[in-house]
Amino acid sequence: MKEVVLVKYGEMALKGQNKSTFESILRKRIRYRLQSLGDFTYSSAQSTIYIVPQNEHISLDKVIERLKKVFGIASICRACVCDKDFADIKVKAIDYLRETLETVESFKVEAKRADKTFPMKSPDICRELGGVLDDAFPELYVDVHDPDITVMVDIRDTNAYVYAEKIKGAGGLPVGSSGNAMLLLSGGIDSPVAGYMMAKRGIRISAIHFVSPPYTSERARLKVEQLCEKMTEYCGDINFYCVPFTEIQEQLKRCCPEEYFTILMRRLMMLIAQEVAVKEEACALITGESVGQVASQTIQAMVCTDAVCHMPVFRPCIGMDKTEIIELARKIDTFEISIQPYEDCCTVFTPRHPKIRPRLELIEKAQEAGDFGEMIRRAVEETECKRIHISL
Ligand code: ATP
Ligand code: MG
Repeated sequence: MKEVVLVKYGEMALKGQNKSTFESILRKRIRYRLQSLGDFTYSSAQSTIYIVPQNEHISLDKVIERLKKVFGIASICRACVCDKDFADIKVKAIDYLRETLETVESFKVEAKRADKTFPMKSPDICRELGGVLDDAFPELYVDVHDPDITVMVDIRDTNAYVYAEKIKGAGGLPVGSSGNAMLLLSGGIDSPVAGYMMAKRGIRISAIHFVSPPYTSERARLKVEQLCEKMTEYCGDINFYCVPFTEIQEQLKRCCPEEYFTILMRRLMMLIAQEVAVKEEACALITGESVGQVASQTIQAMVCTDAVCHMPVFRPCIGMDKTEIIELARKIDTFEISIQPYEDCCTVFTPRHPKIRPRLELIEKAQEAGDFGEMIRRAVEETECKRIHISL
């Protein structure tokens, strides 16, 4: 039996005049994600994209696995293709839905008739097909108010489609529909989750990572690249920037009070990230910070960090518990990579007694003493970029 995949978009459908822009970005994302699985044709109607595989060897299970990670999709359905003829619809519905209908108790039929020349009206289709299925599956009863399953019949221009199963999509908005932002990506648990959350809102992510060789190893950097690679499944291709941070950190150690290390480091990271962000036409930064998680993540510390930022800093994990962040990290499959024990430049230079409530004027003074201007310029200049492609 010939099958197609229907993709329904949720929130996007509410966007009025922008809807077609969102839809074309979503289609582009879907095409990119499915291209290595074979040829498909695409068409859209009524907040639904119809994906028709062009040969029977294409695995729809794989198609669905990939679509489940494309933001902007509310739900995904596998549907059976029927002739536009009620006799064919009847026979195929019984056959195609057999397995599903044998596992539930109640059902109803809903019909949509985009082609108004179809001889039966929607209520007639519902009533007639309801009767047919009721007869074919004696254990089943019709419940129009709270059915276990809704059988959908969709009459379109060239064919009719029958389906029942609805798979939950990734939700959100298609990546690229909300502009660009630069994610400060460490090797930890939180920042990949932060990137995922902002990508879900349609933001295209680039990532920046700070390394301090020889204090941090090549293996630690590779771990972050691996995280990026995992994130591409949801975020699409990512431009990954790697910043040499050793000189700045050694200067910090020489010239600044130890209790300010972390907060100064974060400010210097922000300064560099903002400069690199320009190359990506990114107009916001993203971090994985969460209030109170560690000493450097107090409100006062964030005030001191944000004082050097002319871009907004998005911190989507800000109100989350660690357990909630971990739950998401497991869902997006970054957790196991994140817990590999490689050093981060922040942890290498962690002060023994970090200042929990830093005062901005003292922090600014300490930073001045370090005279970092030239070093920041050099770090930006020596930053390397690598495009991390979605694994297809
Ligand atoms: P994470 O789990 O994301 O590492 P964390 O709880 O370990 O977070 P910190 O080490 O205080 O927190 O870092 C706070 C944020 O600063 C991180 O979420 C990340 O956005 C950024 N950050 C820390 N280290 C780096 C780094 N080496 N390169 C890029 N960004 C970093
Ligand atoms: Mg960390």
